[in-house]
Parts: sequence; structure tokens; C-alpha cells
Amino acid sequence: MSEHDHHHDHDHDHDHDEPALDADARAEAEAEAIRHYALAQIRQYGDPALRLSAREVTEFDDDLRRLVDRMIALMHDAQGVGLAATQVGVLRRVFVFEPDDQGPRAIVNPVAVSRGGELETDDEGCLSLQGVRVPVERAIEFVLEGKDPNGEDVHHDLTGYAARVAQHEFDHLDGVMIIDRTDDEHRREALATLRPRVSLR
Ligand SMILES: [Zn+2]
Repeated sequence: MSEHDHHHDHDHDHDHDEPALDADARAEAEAEAIRHYALAQIRQYGDPALRLSAREVTEFDDDLRRLVDRMIALMHDAQGVGLAATQVGVLRRVFVFEPDDQGPRAIVNPVAVSRGGELETDDEGCLSLQGVRVPVERAIEFVLEGKDPNGEDVHHDLTGYAARVAQHEFDHLDGVMIIDRTDDEHRREALATLRPRVSLR
């Protein structure tokens, strides 16, 4: 899942005798380059892997831990708040998410124990659907159980934004994306944004 869109359309015509601004602009350009490089390694809309259901993980080995480390690094570089294994073309039931400042979390073979509370609609983006933000209705309470990358049991009692991010990533493991969960009008707009990209591949 992508963070709220950052708007980089501010005025760059500042005076060149402001070195602090230049340093900021340089740092921003560097972060943008890193983000683009990360996005290039994430499967984009039209890629069949995004529509497949992932399989249960059976081996909690170094390969799995390397996969999780790579997914966390990609999520950070892409400035996202969540990433599912299917988005890197690995059809295993694993996702990582970081909805707050408590650090990245990884969950393997997640099971949705309950979706509770009220439903809430808010805009979501996705690292696999660049340029798209659509309203999606989610439960505000989401309880997840599964394993960590070492095979230990984990239990997440999530609310609000964290619940939203986890439900988004959980969907990816069954090939479901935000364009499937939004209304017809927003789906049409999103597909119009996405189709030209596909035809350029
Ligand atoms: Zn996504």
C-alpha cells in the first residue's frame, strides 16, 4: 500500500543563494530516484502475479527471512506502508506492513480472525497501481493471526489505519486489489489511468 500522495509540485524556482533549499531539493531528488528504482522491482497492474492466490508457507527458513527482509527494504524505498509477496512475484502467503512508528511487521500465513466495528471509507493507493487513489470501505477493527518469519505465533489486534493497511495487504494474497473494492465510477477512472501504462509495456 502506498502512502498518501506527496505533492512535489511546489515552486523550484528558488534563488540559488539558498544552499539549505538546494540540499533539500537534492535529498528529495535522491529519494525520488530510490522510490522509482524500488517501484520498478514491484509488479505493476497487468502483471498476472497480482491476480493469483498465494500458497501457504511451509518452510520457515533463511529463504523466507531473506524474502521478508527484501520486502521490508522495498516497502521503505518505495515509501509505502505495506507490501505483499505477490507484489514481488512470490506466490506465498506473506506480507509486511508499517502503518505507524512501531517499526515494520511481517506476517506469514495470516488468518483473518475477525473484522469488527464499523465500516469506514477512505482513499487508498497501492504500490502496484501507480497514480491511482480510490475510496475503499474497510472494517475499522481487524484481528489477524499467523506466524512471524521464524515460525512463532503472532497475533495483531488492529484498528483504524493499521487495520486498513493490513486488510489491503491481506487482499493481495488472494489476488484482490483496491480497484475491485471501490465503486464503479472510481474503478472506471482508475482503469483509464492504468490502461495507457499497460499498452506501453
Ligand atoms: Zn497494494
